[in-house]
Amino acid sequence: MGQETEGENSSYPLDELLPVGCELKTKGYQTATIICDRIYVVEGSSDGANFPIDVKIFDKTAGKWFVPTVLGTKPIASRVHSAVFLSNDRILIIKGDSSADDCAWFLEVDTQFVRERKKLLGGEVVAWSKGVIGNKTKPVVISGPSGVGKGTLISRLMKDFPNTFGFSVSHTTRSPREKEIDGVHYHFAEREMMEKDIREGKFLESALVHGNLYGTSFEAVEAVTDAGKRCILDIDVQGARSVRCSSLEALFIFICPPSFEELEKRLRVRGTETEEQIQKRLRNAKEEIDQGRSPGLFDHILVNDNIDTCYETLKKLLALDDVADACSQPSSKGFTIPADHSVPKADQKILVHCGTAASGQACPNLLVFDISSLKGGAPGRTRGLSVWTNS
Ligand code: 5GP
Repeated sequence: MGQETEGENSSYPLDELLPVGCELKTKGYQTATIICDRIYVVEGSSDGANFPIDVKIFDKTAGKWFVPTVLGTKPIASRVHSAVFLSNDRILIIKGDSSADDCAWFLEVDTQFVRERKKLLGGEVVAWSKGVIGNKTKPVVISGPSGVGKGTLISRLMKDFPNTFGFSVSHTTRSPREKEIDGVHYHFAEREMMEKDIREGKFLESALVHGNLYGTSFEAVEAVTDAGKRCILDIDVQGARSVRCSSLEALFIFICPPSFEELEKRLRVRGTETEEQIQKRLRNAKEEIDQGRSPGLFDHILVNDNIDTCYETLKKLLALDDVADACSQPSSKGFTIPADHSVPKADQKILVHCGTAASGQACPNLLVFDISSLKGGAPGRTRGLSVWTNS
C-alpha cells in the first residue's frame, strides 16, 4: 500500500523498483521517492498507532537498504501521507488527518545541514524540519562574558514580551544554583549522557565553558518555534560561532561590559560563584571579549554600562520599541488535511485536492501550498510556507 514519486515524475510500484530479494517489510502506509540513485521510503502507520514516521533508503547502485541517522524532531505517523519531490535536496511530506500546524514536514536528504552532519557522523543521514505557515522571525543569539547582565536583559524581554519570545533551555553538566529549576533555567544533565546525545547529533551546538559542558539541543529550539515564539539563545562565544557556521539563520548580539573592573564587581555582587570560580570566569572573560569583537561573528555589540539604557537599545534592535507584546499567532488556520487527498505540483505551488475529513470536520476542496518563499530548514523549522483555501 502506498505511493511512489520521482524527480522525473514517473511512478512505479515500489516492488518493481527493487531487485529480487530486496523487498521491504513494512509496518504500514508508505511512500517512495526516487532521487538520483536512491529511493527514500517514508513509512506511516497502518492502525493509527502513535509512533514516529520511519525512513529507509534503498541505494540502487549498491542494491542495499540503509536505515539512516534521522535528525530533528520526527513527525508522528498518520494513516496516509503524500510525498512530494521538491528538489534533489528535500521531499515535502503532507500528512493526512492532520491539522494545519502539523500537516507539512520537510525530509531533508542533501541540504547543507545534512551534508555537514554526514561528514561528522558518517553513514546515511536525513533530517526532518517541520513546515511552519507564515514567517516567524529569526532566533536571537545573545552572548557575552559571565556577569555582564545577559541574564537580566533576557529576563526583562521575557517578562515584557511573554507572547513574543521563548527561551531556549540549554543543557549543562554544572550543578544547579539555588533557585534554579531543572527544565526551566537549564536541563541539568549527567556528563556521560550529554556526551552521548552530542555524539548522536541531538545538539545544534555544544561547548566546554568554565570547565562544564553546555549545549543547545535541536529540541530546545524547536519547542520555542512550535509555540509560535521567537527563540532566544543565551550561549557563549564558542556556541555563537558554531551556530553562525550552521544553517540556522539567527541574529547575533554580543553584550560587553563597560570595563573589566566593572565586570569583576558585578560578578562578585551577584554572589553565585566561589572565589575560584570567579577567577576562572574572569580569565575566560578576557578571551570572550576579544572573540566577541572579532569581525563577522556578531551583528551587533552593545555595551552594558547602564542596564536600562542597554535594554532600550536591545529593544530597538529587535524592533520592539513602542510595540505591544503581540499575541502568539494561532498555529492552526482552521483546516485539516483529510486522509483522502491527492497532490499535484504546479511550479512553486502544491495543490491538495481534499476528500472528506476523516474527523467529519468540514474541509475545503482545494488547498494551495505555496513553497516559493521557504526559509530556514533543519536544524529548526522551515518557515515561509503559505497556504490558501477555496473556502
Ligand atoms: P552560567 O553557568 O553562568 O549559567 O553560564 C555560563 C556561560 O555558559 C554563559 O556565558 C552562558 O552564555 C553560556 N551558556 C549557557 N548555555 C549555553 C549553551 O547551551 N551553549 C553554550 N555554548 N554556552 C552556553
